[in-house]
Amino acid sequence: MKNLSERDQKYLWHPLTQHQTAAPRLGIVKAKDALIWDEDGNSYIDGIASWYTAMYGHCNSYITDAITAQMKQLDFVMFSGFTHEPAIKLSEQLIEILPSNQRKIFFNDNGSTAIEAGIKMALQYHHNLGERRDTLIAFENGFHGDTFGAMSASGLSSYNGPFEDFLLKVERIPVPQEDTIDEVLSKLDYILNNNSCAAFVFEPLVQGAAGMKFHSAKGLDALIQKCQENNVITIADEVMTGFGKTGKNFASDYLINNPDIICLSKALTAAMFPLSITSCSQKVYDAFLSESVAKGFFHAHTFSAHPIGCTAALAGLELLNSDDIVERRAYIEKAHQRFVLQIEKHPKVKEARSFGVILAIDLTVEGNRYGSFRDMLYDFYMSEGVNLRPLGNTIYVLPPFVITNEQLERVYNVIERSLEIV
Ligand SMILES: *Cc1c(COP(=O)(O)O)cnc(C)c1O
Repeated sequence: MKNLSERDQKYLWHPLTQHQTAAPRLGIVKAKDALIWDEDGNSYIDGIASWYTAMYGHCNSYITDAITAQMKQLDFVMFSGFTHEPAIKLSEQLIEILPSNQRKIFFNDNGSTAIEAGIKMALQYHHNLGERRDTLIAFENGFHGDTFGAMSASGLSSYNGPFEDFLLKVERIPVPQEDTIDEVLSKLDYILNNNSCAAFVFEPLVQGAAGMKFHSAKGLDALIQKCQENNVITIADEVMTGFGKTGKNFASDYLINNPDIICLSKALTAAMFPLSITSCSQKVYDAFLSESVAKGFFHAHTFSAHPIGCTAALAGLELLNSDDIVERRAYIEKAHQRFVLQIEKHPKVKEARSFGVILAIDLTVEGNRYGSFRDMLYDFYMSEGVNLRPLGNTIYVLPPFVITNEQLERVYNVIERSLEIV
């Protein structure tokens, strides 16, 4: 009996879904490690760790035990006027591993609102210093979330279409490649000279939703430096790249110039709880200190610093650099590199690339972001028991660190076979 799939259609409205034409949703009843099970008992390898969240595996018992204990001790208390151990401990541990200029941890509850808070911090930073700066700088084809500030910074029209007239003022630059750094820098210069720029918002080194597109660390470093010379607040959106995806703890660890603000979510809580963080440097924080109450940051979400989320994050951090996970991260990185060499010569492959545990393959066949080509690939993977969600003609893999060698081979194998049907 397909109970969930059928009942779903009565009252539910799903994200990123055209309900008139979309296939019914698959009812999922259970998940463990790198596997999820549907209501008919079929299992699927979660090749993208459920939007890169479940990096330590689904229902990781180390994390479920920690949050179960926390739930019985302190479920929730408002974070205005009160504080608690999980938030304090998480701030201490994050400051230890974040780039060395990060000094303060502000809590939100999802990636978009982490970006939203970062943008508001940047705008108010200038306001508090007595300057009106009204323009954001962002990369072409970036993705930063679905609230208005985050949407403004995003440059993917498939998400922003109906709202474009209502967004913040943004100037866009292309991402820098090794051979275009000077060109992008001069574009940035022109923007800085002709606008009153408040902040530069970017996905460091990997643009996720754009199709796992990589760019030059040296180039990004130069852009950050130029922004910082002009007191433009630099905001690194590490919602996707954070927590070991690129090989280091954070993509910003590949940079010499530390961003002023860093946004974290997704793998932060190991998929157990919605939580996000906007961290900032002392310089940003200091601009909010004043005898005047109005110069404080009057921005809050009810569930700020939820103790359950903080506890999941603490357990996740312990796992991130544990011997077992470090070994798995290295294995996946090597395996991806081998697979890239194997697949990149295939006539249907335009480019294959990997960075840390992120693998992406652009096909020569044109395909829309949402369309029949992409759906055909998706259906093929699911029929083969693998959850992969191609972005147009880009196939990408971002597996949980705990995926087994055999499961990873199966993912590669299914991708290879899918090239025969496109
Ligand atoms: C997912 C994502 C967001 C948005 O996070 P939500 O939790 O979905 O609001 C922002 N930036 C990047 C890079 C993301 O991958």
